[in-house]
Amino acid sequence: MSSLQAPRGTFDVLPPDAAQRLVLEEQARRILGAAGYGRIETPTYEATELFARGVGEATDIVQKEMYSFDDGAGRSMTLRPEGTAPICRAYIEHGMHKQPQPVKLWYLSSFFRAEAPQKGRYRQFWQVGAEAIGAAGPETDAELIVLLYDLLQAVGVKGLQLRLSSLGTAQTRREYREELAAYLHAHEDGLSHEVIGRIDLNPMRAFDADDARTRETMRGAPLMLDRLAPDDAEHFESVKALLNDAGIRYELDPTLVRGLDYYARTLWEFTSDALGAQSAVGGGGRYDGLIEQLGGPPTPGVGWAAGVERMLLSAGQQPIAANVVDLFVAIPPSSGEGASQAAFKLANDARRAGLSAQLELAGRGLKGQLKHADRLGARYVAIIGDPMQISLKDMEAGDQTELAPESVIPTILRGSRIA
Ligand code: AMP
Repeated sequence: MSSLQAPRGTFDVLPPDAAQRLVLEEQARRILGAAGYGRIETPTYEATELFARGVGEATDIVQKEMYSFDDGAGRSMTLRPEGTAPICRAYIEHGMHKQPQPVKLWYLSSFFRAEAPQKGRYRQFWQVGAEAIGAAGPETDAELIVLLYDLLQAVGVKGLQLRLSSLGTAQTRREYREELAAYLHAHEDGLSHEVIGRIDLNPMRAFDADDARTRETMRGAPLMLDRLAPDDAEHFESVKALLNDAGIRYELDPTLVRGLDYYARTLWEFTSDALGAQSAVGGGGRYDGLIEQLGGPPTPGVGWAAGVERMLLSAGQQPIAANVVDLFVAIPPSSGEGASQAAFKLANDARRAGLSAQLELAGRGLKGQLKHADRLGARYVAIIGDPMQISLKDMEAGDQTELAPESVIPTILRGSRIA
């Protein structure tokens, strides 16, 4: 075996996995398309500055997980670690604020983070995401949560739980962060070194700590949800009421933190019991200050992203429609002159007539070819012994007819269940 392998933390998507992913993509397109979201694709890499400014200097993503490189002209580029900052960049660049608001977009793309690989955590992974830019009302937050819920249900994700919180707006969050930082400094004895080192950079992360002593200390910490300004609290109440109306159960989690700095107001995360340590399947939040921070006009926005691999992992193997093979074209080793050209032509003509057709390409004996056709689930096998007289075998009925070459495709189309 060659010593060349896919890089650590990456994987190949082989045809059976690709078929599962296609089902997921179709569900996303159906659910998000029906709600007016249009597909967007942004470049695989962007200026590093976009993520430094957009995702936040203090986040793990920017501090240690970016794949950055020099573009050859002295500019630092980064493989996209997430989708929201690039979409906001595109919104500004294409003057989308002049379009009717909100601008609703969705994507399914691959993302890159230099993380320690484990089950459900990769260095290149795929996310489906949706963003609604230009609407501040709580209906938009609720719409996006319901859409993510519907997608996770449609994909068959098991053991779903929704955690919900609100971070307030930039101003209240700043005041709260100061209050929290003061609490942390006053209780440094009960905190891990890692948490102490991050107090002034990102005190919220202290809620995320695994260390038992830190967790104990955090029980007494002030909570953002208790510090919301009246209009933020009202916004959050409306989001909750809309979710209740939609029959979506959630758990309030005032300690919820997500690894991106741009969130304000509503924040949520779906987890699945069916996953191990990496239990988050998808999450999102409101990011009202982000577009302005990236140099655009003040514009509200809200969105989410869900991990494709984690959705498929927690859904287990879903039955997918078997690939229909209408025709397998067999060439007996003893066939006469011109048989392989005739076989090649028949397979091509069949595909152009809308049939799914496969041609023997491995040089098997006739028995082996028929066995292979059976394995593929082929409905007909055309045996080209003589290019002017083709034997067409109906694999289900078992009978065989001799036909002129031009009659083969019409015969299959007449008998075809999909025609
Ligand atoms: P985030 O962009 O960090 O909010 O992540 C959104 C979702 O993407 C998570 O809930 C995961 O399902 C998925 N995800 C994030 N990072 C990774 C990773 N390194 N590998 C696989 N999936 C990931």
